[in-house]
Amino acid sequence: MYRELLADATFHNLLLACDRDLAEEARAGRCSLCGGVLHSATYPRKPRGRPRSVSRQLGPEHDRRFSFCCAVDGCRSRATPPSLRFLGPKVYLATIVVLVSIVLHGASPKRVRRMHEAVGVDRRTVERWRRWWCDSFTATPFWQIARAAFMPPVEHECLPGSLIERFSGGDADRLIAMLRFLGPITGGSHAR
Ligand SMILES: [Zn+2]
Repeated sequence: MYRELLADATFHNLLLACDRDLAEEARAGRCSLCGGVLHSATYPRKPRGRPRSVSRQLGPEHDRRFSFCCAVDGCRSRATPPSLRFLGPKVYLATIVVLVSIVLHGASPKRVRRMHEAVGVDRRTVERWRRWWCDSFTATPFWQIARAAFMPPVEHECLPGSLIERFSGGDADRLIAMLRFLGPITGGSHAR
């Protein structure tokens, strides 16, 4: 399923449209420090993991992170809205960080090698993500509060698979619901 989704330009355009909506919301909310007007201050990202065949069909806006800068002199603080495409500073698409972590949970070395050939993610990266899900993600103030919404509790050792299965719908619906759910940890101070 991950191969089909990743190779589908419509899927990437849907994520972009979601990000646009989130950006509009953030802009309308004004500066959180001084209430000033926010000006667009997008910045470039070079997300890894998107097949070249699909990248060719996508516009340059797919490689830009929506972000804003307060227009008030002396404040100029940056506001980066949540994103379904970029998971904080991670260089791979958020979709990849979720799907590859699920697919390769407890996978054989052979399977990891095949994934490396398909999307360029190596074993060390997969292991780093595993630790991130189990240790860093579970320690975020966001998860400390959000976890209470799940009963029975989500098993931390099986993240992110144990979390995505709590959302309903088909594979793509669940993935998008999960990316949306992760929104609060994708922007703000996490983005640079
Ligand atoms: Zn301000």
